[in-house]
Amino acid sequence: MEKIRHDSSYEWLSGESWKEWSASFFSMGWKIWGVVLITELFLFLFFKPTADCGRLRYGWLFIVRPSGLQLLLLFVYRLLTGRQKRVYSRRAMAGCAIFLLTSYAAVMAWVHTSVTLMPMVLLLPMLLTPLYKDQVMTLVQAALLVAAYVLDCVYFIPASSYFPLTTPFIEGSIFVGTVCGMLVALELVNDSAIVNDERSKRDSLTKLYNHESFYEELEYYQRRYEENRERFSLAVIDIDNFKNVNDTYGHAFGDVVLKEVADICARHKGAAGFCARYGGEEFAIIFKGAGVGQAEEMAEQIRQEFEQKMFTTPQGERSFSVSIGVAEYDRAYAGASAFFEVADAALYRAKREGKNQVRR
Ligand code: GH3
Ligand code: MG
Ligand code: MG
Repeated sequence: MEKIRHDSSYEWLSGESWKEWSASFFSMGWKIWGVVLITELFLFLFFKPTADCGRLRYGWLFIVRPSGLQLLLLFVYRLLTGRQKRVYSRRAMAGCAIFLLTSYAAVMAWVHTSVTLMPMVLLLPMLLTPLYKDQVMTLVQAALLVAAYVLDCVYFIPASSYFPLTTPFIEGSIFVGTVCGMLVALELVNDSAIVNDERSKRDSLTKLYNHESFYEELEYYQRRYEENRERFSLAVIDIDNFKNVNDTYGHAFGDVVLKEVADICARHKGAAGFCARYGGEEFAIIFKGAGVGQAEEMAEQIRQEFEQKMFTTPQGERSFSVSIGVAEYDRAYAGASAFFEVADAALYRAKREGKNQVRR
């Protein structure tokens, strides 16, 4: 199985994926919050007040404090991920998820210093690390949890003001609550589009996004233009005389040329841009925040860089070319494909007027 972890374009999330991530973690956060609250309320029912702790104090310590704090953390998470960022970094999204999960678990460990099994909840966030597909972030998560455990042992437990008596009933209820929380987290891992979709959204040869995700993204940008007037432009890139390339040098060589164009496009799309393999030897780039003039300049850089790239063939060094059509989304179009047609028409002008050029 091919690993896409080493592909640099994989470092970035599409706008749609960013929203999916944020929504999935937010909904998991809510559910775990509910599981914790139900467990705490259940224990409260059986609580017998003592001389040093009445019902009110117990309610504050073990219901209001953890649930209130977790609610606050959930809204901080929402604030961090809810608003659209200029750059969709996968690592930033993983960082926000790690913040939410680590602090959730730490709150539980800190509140229940008398429960011997409690530090086990600090292992829970490790369940979600496969989603990050990022070794560094997995290690960051592990290190933070170890730090939380150490802090619990050397500070929170000694500094705790009240140790309620723990009974097998209390320990058992918390254990069941933790298992329920784990089920909620696993649900996210299992049915998340995040794990499996990423591969199906990509083209296997170039590792760029495929035709379908390109249209999803284009529709997303279209909505953003209509809602907030955020400008963007589109470039459609087509390799010139590619059938000849295949016929002369073979399909395997053709694939090498395709990958080279894909790499150049990925490099020039800009940090917030979106790059896809639209079809066989056609690519499309969405330049976020760019007017048609800027898009034309970036397209020209792509055209030049590819033209200068030398390929070794049995007949010696050869270079090839691309034609590019660009268009800016500057009015409401009937649909994403109606707008695509505009850039495509520009591409055909470039072809008609002799190829190896950029047209708007
Ligand atoms: P033009 O300059 O007008 O674009 O001419 P063209 O030959 O590039 O255009 P045409 O659409 O006729 O040919 C596209 C070719 O791209 C045909 C097909 O064999 C080739 N192709 C499509 N997908 C792949 C692929 O994945 N690998 C390889 N090697 N070739 C592919
Ligand atoms: Mg073509
Ligand atoms: Mg072509």
